Amino acid sequence: MQRTHDEDYDYLYKIVLVGEAGVGKTHLLSRYIKGTLPKNPTSTIGVEFATRTVPLESGGIVKAQIWDTAGQERYRAITCAHYRRAVGALLVYDVTNEKTFASVKRWMEELRENAEPDIVILLVGNKVDLCDRNPDSRKITKEQGARFAMENGLLFEETSAITIVRVKEAFEGLLQAIYNVKSQAGN
Ligand code: GDP
Repeated sequence: MQRTHDEDYDYLYKIVLVGEAGVGKTHLLSRYIKGTLPKNPTSTIGVEFATRTVPLESGGIVKAQIWDTAGQERYRAITCAHYRRAVGALLVYDVTNEKTFASVKRWMEELRENAEPDIVILLVGNKVDLCDRNPDSRKITKEQGARFAMENGLLFEETSAITIVRVKEAFEGLLQAIYNVKSQAGN
């Protein structure tokens, strides 16, 4: 039977977006949820999460509840409510900004301390469009990102929220990976 109603899903997964301010979290979320860019960069303040219902390749329908930080990372104090019951995370850095990559480890540790113990983390190197235009602007190579991910048990993607490169793949690859982990664990 074909299921079309938005509220008809098998699992609800809470996903959090983390990473330094300015790496493109809000733009990635907006692209994925609405296909457009946020009109006003401050528009996420006060908004807790967005949802999208997604049919998985493996079968089954999941509802993703995706939480943006609403600017909390600017103050280095993400509230516990942000992480609570999160089963997946997009940990975003900017491939043209070394500082944002240097802080990835700290974000990863914070996720592992505060979210669900079996959280699936996708490391995302965003803003690859800038490197296509000017290869010198790239500060973190794809190999560096992939190596960090491999060494720390993370998934990895490089994206652009502006030219829409691998945005859908990032979110839906993460959802599929969470589903796989949960199925293996039998819940
Ligand atoms: P957040 O603070 O992590 O939520 O970052 P925002 O989504 O507010 O984006 C910060 C800035 O980076 C904005 O000026 C965006 O236009 C820009 N930005 C976000 N994603 C990309 C991208 O993929 N490519 C480029 N060139 N700029 C981006």
